[in-house]
Amino acid sequence: MAASEPRPHILLLSVDTLRADRMGSYGYARKTSPHLDDLLAKGARFADARTIEPLTAPALASMLTSLPPHEHGSTRNGLRVRPELPSLPKILRRHGYKTGAFVGSWTLRAKLWAMEGHFDHFEEVLTKARWLGMVKREATAEDLNEAALDWFGEQIESEASRPVFLWVHYVEPHAPYLLQRDFMNQIGSSPDGNNYSESNKYDSEIAYVDFQISQLLDDVEDLVAADNTMVLFVSDHGESLGEHGYWGHGRHLYEPSLHIPMGITWPGRVEPTVVEAPALILDLAPTVVGLLGIDVPNFFQGVDWSKVFAGAVEPPRDRVTLYQAHRGSVGAKEDQTKVREKGLLEVARLEGGKKEILRVTNGRRRIFDLVADPEELDSLVREQTEISEGLRTWLESVQAGLILADELPPPSLSEEDVDALRALGYLD
Ligand SMILES: [Zn+2]
Repeated sequence: MAASEPRPHILLLSVDTLRADRMGSYGYARKTSPHLDDLLAKGARFADARTIEPLTAPALASMLTSLPPHEHGSTRNGLRVRPELPSLPKILRRHGYKTGAFVGSWTLRAKLWAMEGHFDHFEEVLTKARWLGMVKREATAEDLNEAALDWFGEQIESEASRPVFLWVHYVEPHAPYLLQRDFMNQIGSSPDGNNYSESNKYDSEIAYVDFQISQLLDDVEDLVAADNTMVLFVSDHGESLGEHGYWGHGRHLYEPSLHIPMGITWPGRVEPTVVEAPALILDLAPTVVGLLGIDVPNFFQGVDWSKVFAGAVEPPRDRVTLYQAHRGSVGAKEDQTKVREKGLLEVARLEGGKKEILRVTNGRRRIFDLVADPEELDSLVREQTEISEGLRTWLESVQAGLILADELPPPSLSEEDVDALRALGYLD
């Protein structure tokens, strides 16, 4: 964009634990996400996007810094990021943006994650004991919207000419899944005939957050012109709903945990398109910066898709993408070096539809052809052979990052934090 044009407001809306294939725009038959599907249809929708690590704090730090977890330092929930990191919100602030974050997850609390300094305003919205227990550990999407809109409205009122970057991170549909009864008609009866099945509850939570996001967008549109607003939508990771005998996320690098919805809308500036080439959550930051016409810093490791949208470069169809999985969370009094080094569970490398996974804990190597075997059931590795050079290089760089733990800020978890992280399934 030209320097004289007013910068758009930017909304970054991230949803926890939303796997791509449970949304209509990614092929799901149930009506779980009509509003988000409409939103994604208005801009660039990344059909083949993945997170880099299927855990909340690591993935979202990668989203904001465009760095892999072993470089930003938050490889597990409860581990803080390195101090002084560059990030998307910091760059936007330098270019005149007022920046605000509203997070509804205990995992993202400032003292556990240390990303608060990247924003002018960082608000932990912990309004509800949404699940079991007495402690208010989470927020509903409705509460998040209220807090975020209050702040957004104040910024527009106090300084109408200044652009705003607003990030909201929604908790639904993170486990334990609630049955959102108001949305049962919309999504229709459960495919397995059991409205109380975990899978059905999960779908109803998606429909709830989909509706709430549409409410936020409507309310923002009452305050600022839609054509001057860029909306980024993404999930931090997916969820395994029983595939490979596993419920949850974090411990494996199979597609249900990695494949995420991702899209960018900016009316008149980003043409409606479906991007088929591989994309990563790390791409959001450089792409936003590129779309604004700001030089993309070379420390951002994701792809700047703005050049592809502009037709200046070809989509990176042959891109190699790399992944890591670590144990869910650190405990209260664990040794800093040990928890980082011992936490690595898996690494993976995806090239040309073939995904090579190494289970670091037992040395088991598998290769799946995601086209012929999308459920990743039949490994092409018939006997124990050496991992590829590409995956070995990635493994070594991840391990090297982890042993630099001395430079990293130590975890600071209370017993209350540990209880909260355990309730979310991140501690054994
Ligand atoms: Zn998450």
